[in-house]
Amino acid sequence: MIEIKNVSKWYGPVQVLQNCSTTVQKGEVVVVCGPSGSGKSTLIKTVNGLETIQGGTILVEGLDVHSPKTKLPALRAKVGMVFQHFELFPHLSVTENLVIAQVKVLGRSAVDAEQRGLRMLERVGLMQHRHKYPGQLSGGQQQRVAIARALSMDPVVMLFDEPTSALDPEMVGEVLDVMVRLAKEGMTMMVVTHEMGFARKVADRVIFMDVGGRILADCAKDEFFSPSSARHPRTKDFLDRIL
Ligand code: ATP
Ligand code: MG
Repeated sequence: MIEIKNVSKWYGPVQVLQNCSTTVQKGEVVVVCGPSGSGKSTLIKTVNGLETIQGGTILVEGLDVHSPKTKLPALRAKVGMVFQHFELFPHLSVTENLVIAQVKVLGRSAVDAEQRGLRMLERVGLMQHRHKYPGQLSGGQQQRVAIARALSMDPVVMLFDEPTSALDPEMVGEVLDVMVRLAKEGMTMMVVTHEMGFARKVADRVIFMDVGGRILADCAKDEFFSPSSARHPRTKDFLDRIL
């Protein structure tokens, strides 16, 4: 599904990803964690071509993301992405936000796109807000609209980059609930988050990145959280600090 092989990236002289390799199978939920600056966002953005790489390859369903022949809009339609900041269009209603990329990128008719978008809005529990503008919604609601918008494109995988870290604490739960449901429905997901409760509940695997852009651990959830595992001391330090 997603194959990341020996990926390296530099910003000028600074290497921010070092020979990163991992695989995400269909239906798998992989949580990526690690200290600030370790390259989590950079890694996840390389998967949908938002960041270039200087070494290695990334395949999404066999499609080479960084090949010059790959059409990025088509790829990004397959790979849904939800960021820390919701990035909805403020001047468009919720429904219009759901429709626009389906029409422009996938060429769907406005009627089809609206039907599909509203089905996804229903899934995140926000049907009654379809006529509102983003500014009239809470942060948690806006983030759920952003998830519905990404789902409207029929992605084969969903990438999340700290989707709850900009939210007021009381809104974190409603967004995590939507993500847990998605995971349980079998969506393939790669999720950068420090919400270890989410990781414990639905992750299949946990990847731990360390400063310098190295993957230090990539293991089954139970192994990652097991106190007896012989995991790397850096991973233990990190967990001790955030748990
Ligand atoms: P955080 O937990 O704070 O979000 P992160 O693990 O997501 O951190 P990245 O944002 O991927 O880390 O950054 C990895 C490294 O790349 C950092 O050292 C950062 O300073 C550097 N970096 C990120 N974007 C750029 C850029 N556009 N130009 C130069 N350096 C950058
Ligand atoms: Mg980040």
